[in-house]
Amino acid sequence: MKDKRYRPDHQIRCSFCGKTAEEVDQLITGSHASICSECIHSANEILKQSQYHQFQNAEFELPKPAEIKSFLDQYVIGHEKAKKAISVAVYNHYKRILLGNSYDTDDVEIEKSNILLIGPTGVGKTLIAQTLARLLHVPFSISDATTLTEAGYVGEDVENILVRLYHAANFDIEATERGIVFIDEIDKIARKTASPSITRDVSGEGVQQALLKILEGTIAAIPPRGGRKHPEAPMVNINTRNILFIVGGAFDGLTDIIRRRTSQKWIGFGADTQRRNKLSDSELLELVQPEDLLQYGLIPELVGRIPVIIGMHELSEKELLAILVEPKNSLIKQYKKLFELEGIELNFTEKALAEIVNLAVKRKTGARGLRSILEHVMLDIMFKVPSLGNVKECLITEDVILGKAEPILKMSDSRQSA
Ligand code: ADP
Repeated sequence: MKDKRYRPDHQIRCSFCGKTAEEVDQLITGSHASICSECIHSANEILKQSQYHQFQNAEFELPKPAEIKSFLDQYVIGHEKAKKAISVAVYNHYKRILLGNSYDTDDVEIEKSNILLIGPTGVGKTLIAQTLARLLHVPFSISDATTLTEAGYVGEDVENILVRLYHAANFDIEATERGIVFIDEIDKIARKTASPSITRDVSGEGVQQALLKILEGTIAAIPPRGGRKHPEAPMVNINTRNILFIVGGAFDGLTDIIRRRTSQKWIGFGADTQRRNKLSDSELLELVQPEDLLQYGLIPELVGRIPVIIGMHELSEKELLAILVEPKNSLIKQYKKLFELEGIELNFTEKALAEIVNLAVKRKTGARGLRSILEHVMLDIMFKVPSLGNVKECLITEDVILGKAEPILKMSDSRQSA
């Protein structure tokens, strides 16, 4: 018999390729069959390929913009206009990928819709990007523009953004090439002056140039494990043409630039100028134009590669309150769940919730403050309650939030304790 798998030498062999344990790294044996590490690897590749083809085939149902928005609505409070614009941009982006090269038959090339989210910290920029990736089942990674430098300088190479995505994609090149990258603090790499610098500006312009390359679509050679490139180490090539880049930043001072531009235009129309001068920062952000970003210090080529610009406003008290209780995995729901696992019903009075919001507003870190305030408030009680054993209910009042009282506990033998 020629087939290696059936050689009668009583050695355990891989049921697929026939190799013995000595010939491979590992041989896993079940009750009726064995498989070697090499065949596991090949099988894995086949599976990955078929997943990729599913995505490429229109079998992968690309959610419609309205569906994308309603998914976002479940997790992201407020920002109605932003969510709508993002849903359309993301839909178009993936539509373009799904159509593959077929749309190239006429001369109309649909350009990539990279997105810029402008808004203060903690309003949900990262959350939006993350939620999109979850909906679309694509790999997602976050990078911080402030850590980036031009190749050859101290700091991170821009390619590391792709390394992170490659890792998030479990080292799968094809999956990496359709992933979503979020780059935060993009405003921090703006040139300090709007005119092109005469001397080399390591922190700003050079990084923008490097970023531009991967944003517009290039084949980037990345060191698979990250870190610095070494000439002798093998590289992995990633085509960034279909990677969706969502960049975000607070852009402090941008509203002054927008205000100046818009009020200049209206000089001579006294009443209107006055009205425009009164626009709030978030209203002004909605008027943002590419020229304002140039003025801020982004290079024109980079701005040209980010066609979707969206202003996101500071969260209102009402929105912060909604963030506490409404999203599918809201903080309050998470704490309730944790207590439920101990058999305890956890409740917050309305005033307590309002006080958490109040404290968060003072911190000026958007919704980020909510978590740290709650964690601080809940620490003691989360420490104590599991040892008490017979707690049935736990009520958090306004005074607990303010540190003036202990939570009100109802015991299962109907005693009350404070
Ligand atoms: P940013 O990227 O704008 O600085 P994040 O997206 O990192 O802010 O927000 C921090 C956390 O605050 C999120 O993980 C989320 O829990 C919460 N959060 C912020 N904005 C919202 C929002 N609009 N809706 C729901 N949760 C939010």
